[in-house]
Amino acid sequence: MRTNSSITKELIGVYQAGSQHMVGDGFPVRNMIPGAGVDEQLSPFLLLDYLGPEQFTPTNRQLGVGEHPHRGFETVTIMYHGKVAHRDSTGSGGVIGPGDVQWMTAASGIVHEELHEKDFAKEGGLLEGIQLWVNLPKAVKMSPPRYQTLVSDDIPAVDLGDGAGELRVIAGEFRGVQGPAKTFSPVHLYDLRLKAGHQTELSLPEGFNSSLFVLHGQVVVNGSQPIQEVEIALLGQRGERVSIEAKQDATLLILSGDPIVEPIARYGPFVMNTRDEIIQAVQDYQKGKMGHLA
Ligand code: MN
Repeated sequence: MRTNSSITKELIGVYQAGSQHMVGDGFPVRNMIPGAGVDEQLSPFLLLDYLGPEQFTPTNRQLGVGEHPHRGFETVTIMYHGKVAHRDSTGSGGVIGPGDVQWMTAASGIVHEELHEKDFAKEGGLLEGIQLWVNLPKAVKMSPPRYQTLVSDDIPAVDLGDGAGELRVIAGEFRGVQGPAKTFSPVHLYDLRLKAGHQTELSLPEGFNSSLFVLHGQVVVNGSQPIQEVEIALLGQRGERVSIEAKQDATLLILSGDPIVEPIARYGPFVMNTRDEIIQAVQDYQKGKMGHLA
């Protein structure tokens, strides 16, 4: 009998950035989720903004996004180049640089700012990163906020063998290696670096929503389907296997998560289950119930 683990996941579609815009005055992004065609098929992933890559000239101002709220989900910031500083109304904060990840659980509500780090701003340089929004199950949307700084050294890198490259496990598990991020629903999140001419095989759970985002390079999936730079591919829920071959040195973010099958009510920085909960979120923010920056 054939088991599902031997079935190759179908590549359902390949999508380009839905829009290009500035977040605040410091983060030029290309939006990949919820771009055309990929929205609820990617639950629990609500948003993927690809920041840069962009060269910034030296300045004494810290560009970025000033004080703003979030409720009902998590923001995950993955840095490739440059440094971003963050502080929030719970008193948490810090700086993340290349290879680091900040996993911020807004849950019942926080207010925070996200800025170019001071010395990075002064010196200028290349900024490149990703911000992902991960939904929270209804049962934990109003739990206390939480903040995880996952520095590069905490994120295990699995050697793919034969000089093929490496896969860093940010969340979930790969070939028996666990990633450091604590999540509220099952998620696998990988930073894959694959060398030109090499191929690797992944196993992503049947029933999960999975996708591949190519930041750099060009890959061929399942032997025949190309994905170019700054394109995102959506994979089917059925089966587990995915093969990825790099035509050029490639950097990919691989997302796979157990779908949260609950209604979504979304407004700006709030993602809840009902319209009433959104109205409540706006009121709570206006009344200062999500706190303030010190
Ligand atoms: Mn934010």
